[in-house]
Amino acid sequence: MSSQNPVFIPGPTNIPEEIRKACDMPTIDHRSPTFGRMFRPAVAGVRRVLGMTEGEVILLPSTGTGGWEAAVTNTLSPGDRVLAARFGMFSHRWIDLCRRHGLDVQVIEAPWGQGAPLAAIEAALRADTGHTIRAVLATHNETATGVRSDIAGIRRALDAAGHPALLFVDGVSSIGCMPFDMAGWGVDIAVAGSQKGFMLPAGLAILGVGPRALAAMETATLPRTFFDFRDMLKAYAAGGYPYTPAVGLIAGLARSIEMLEDEGLDAVYARHARLAEGVRRAVAAWGMKPCAASPELYSETVTAVVVPEGCNGTDLVKLAAEKYGVAFGVGLGEVAGKVFRIGHLGMLTDVMVLAGLATAEMCMADLGWPVRLGSGVAAAQEFYRGAPVAVRAAA
Ligand SMILES: *Cc1c(COP(=O)(O)O)cnc(C)c1O
Repeated sequence: MSSQNPVFIPGPTNIPEEIRKACDMPTIDHRSPTFGRMFRPAVAGVRRVLGMTEGEVILLPSTGTGGWEAAVTNTLSPGDRVLAARFGMFSHRWIDLCRRHGLDVQVIEAPWGQGAPLAAIEAALRADTGHTIRAVLATHNETATGVRSDIAGIRRALDAAGHPALLFVDGVSSIGCMPFDMAGWGVDIAVAGSQKGFMLPAGLAILGVGPRALAAMETATLPRTFFDFRDMLKAYAAGGYPYTPAVGLIAGLARSIEMLEDEGLDAVYARHARLAEGVRRAVAAWGMKPCAASPELYSETVTAVVVPEGCNGTDLVKLAAEKYGVAFGVGLGEVAGKVFRIGHLGMLTDVMVLAGLATAEMCMADLGWPVRLGSGVAAAQEFYRGAPVAVRAAA
């Protein structure tokens, strides 16, 4: 892998120089006021990116998976029922985590390439007349298949069924890249990680915790110590942390949010939509399709490209790494070998994406796949040429 090339994996993402510099700092005493001056803007910024109007932001030294574990253990008790749909590796792993914590997971299976099945979720909620389901778990952007789910639609299903379950959303590969409206969608816990839309190194779980989840925290009995929100919130109130915080990452997070807001969150979302559409034009020009079954499901941060019969997506990923020093994502689980994934999130521009598409084409040609060099690149070029200049300049 050449460190000069951008990565095209759906996380960790490319780290802007400004953020690398912000993370690289001398040791400071995290019990001094200096830490509070760095910490408070980062927390306030996360609130804006998540679209929170109430509740608390929690920053844990961890990753997205630790954020899931924290969400579950702080709000639920052994044997509690939760409802989740499985349609990819990340929705699956959330189910697995809940089972290992002794929760009773009601799973709705959906084909990989589909999103959260709203009608089935609403039916399951309506059938639960005793309101034993304590939480609904949703993966906003299924990174394995490049599928976006309709979180507002899940909120509508909960409301239509008159069901009081909490709504927990994995936004690890969408937050900071695609619109996220925690307050508007009535999300009780949103989970993100530092190394995707926030363009930081891995090492922080970033959570938005709403008032209903904070209330559930008072009675939940699943064991937790390191992840206990109550300890965190008590320490926050005094301007500090219950243990040693990841100070450099928090400094980087404040800088990340400045960068996102300097560009403008709407412009950031528009850039991701534009980058993604260019990739999809290339995929179509190759005669291939995204794994996502229909346009309203298309992710703006990752495209899982279904490879032609007889081809293996993992071969392309290996060759790209070994020969060209460029990283793409392999297919996971059910779609292993059947897709390769192009991550188009974080610090990327039209020009960088074109380089990734050109590399993918070289690999396809090397592997003897039926693709003409330049076909996908040209389709993306035509699209990017026509994109609004104001948006492009802001990126
Ligand atoms: C990356 C990712 C995770 C896992 O996050 P880690 O930071 O690797 O623990 C969870 N969910 C989704 C949707 C992801 O893309």
